[in-house]
Amino acid sequence: MEPFKCPYCDTTFPLIHTTYRHWHPSFDSSDNQSYNSMYPTQISLRFYLCPSCERLSIKASSAGSETGSFNTNLLPNSFATQFPDYVPESIRNDYSEACAIVNLSPKASATLSRRCLQSLIRDFWGIKKNTLYQEITELQNHVSVEQWKVLNALRNLGNIGAHPEADVNLIIDMDPDDAVKIIKVIELLIKQWYVERHEQQKLYSEVTNLSDEKCSQKSNPK
Ligand SMILES: [Zn+2]
Repeated sequence: MEPFKCPYCDTTFPLIHTTYRHWHPSFDSSDNQSYNSMYPTQISLRFYLCPSCERLSIKASSAGSETGSFNTNLLPNSFATQFPDYVPESIRNDYSEACAIVNLSPKASATLSRRCLQSLIRDFWGIKKNTLYQEITELQNHVSVEQWKVLNALRNLGNIGAHPEADVNLIIDMDPDDAVKIIKVIELLIKQWYVERHEQQKLYSEVTNLSDEKCSQKSNPK
């Protein structure tokens, strides 16, 4: 089984008897502990206890033919990472909302991710144009080729939800897994842009201060 990443503190931990429980309740069975693929109302409940921050995460998913297809975070009720305050609040809000509605409406989630991308470019890079397309074009010489490509891809994918096709009968589908991948790119951009810049500034100023301190000790020997 894949290790689990704690949504509260970002620690990754293995699923062992002290950190993980798996439960398969169903309407058909009085024995809630056993898994029986014959039960059409079977669902899966998964409990994850983080050994680092000791907080509990719970996920529910469908396992039977009658329960349909769902995969929901019960606790916390969104898988959104808690970003620090130096990431602008509007960006954190759009990002959290994109996470919260990803199963209910993957298209709306992708649209929010697209809006989040625009806010990121405007705030972090100080680029403000009429369209996101123009803003991304302006950014071309400032980011890597790979990153620039993915920014364009995010813009295109977000458009699917934002602008209906000319032919209303043409429906382009997006499933929650696709929308989650888009969210993962937004998370990565926030980390690579805001969090890394913050960490770098912090480390640089610490080392600069350290150097000043040492130099002043050298020039004023006691
Ligand atoms: Zn934790």
